[in-house]
Amino acid sequence: MSDSDCLFCKIIAGEIPSEKVYEDDTTYAFRDINPKAKVHVLIVPREHYANVAELAADDADQLAHMVKVAQRIADDEFHGDYRLIFNTGLDAGQTVFHVHAHVLTGEKLDE
Ligand code: IMP
Repeated sequence: MSDSDCLFCKIIAGEIPSEKVYEDDTTYAFRDINPKAKVHVLIVPREHYANVAELAADDADQLAHMVKVAQRIADDEFHGDYRLIFNTGLDAGQTVFHVHAHVLTGEKLDE
């Protein structure tokens, strides 16, 4: 299911351009437009969930798959180390309400 008002649903559908890093039947990954690290990739499920809690409750396998995709990206673009962030809710800084994992890698990150 997708949401016609959702920015990331439009990116997944190809209606808004993105720089693809990875895709498969369930999952899409693309570069963040405002990178916070040398490599900053967003991983999203093709199906629309508002946040990681909704995804975990409904499809834990998809969440686990996203972690595997994060590892693959970090292996491809760095030596395997990465930071994985799910901002959840307005006060945590979530601005797009289609669950996305931020993968930060490509360099030594600030603590
Ligand atoms: P949030 O603040 O955790 O919801 O993360 C949303 C992320 O989406 C931010 O890091 C934005 O820079 C990123 N973003 C917003 N619009 C686009 C876009 O069109 N392409 C790629 N990244 C985007």
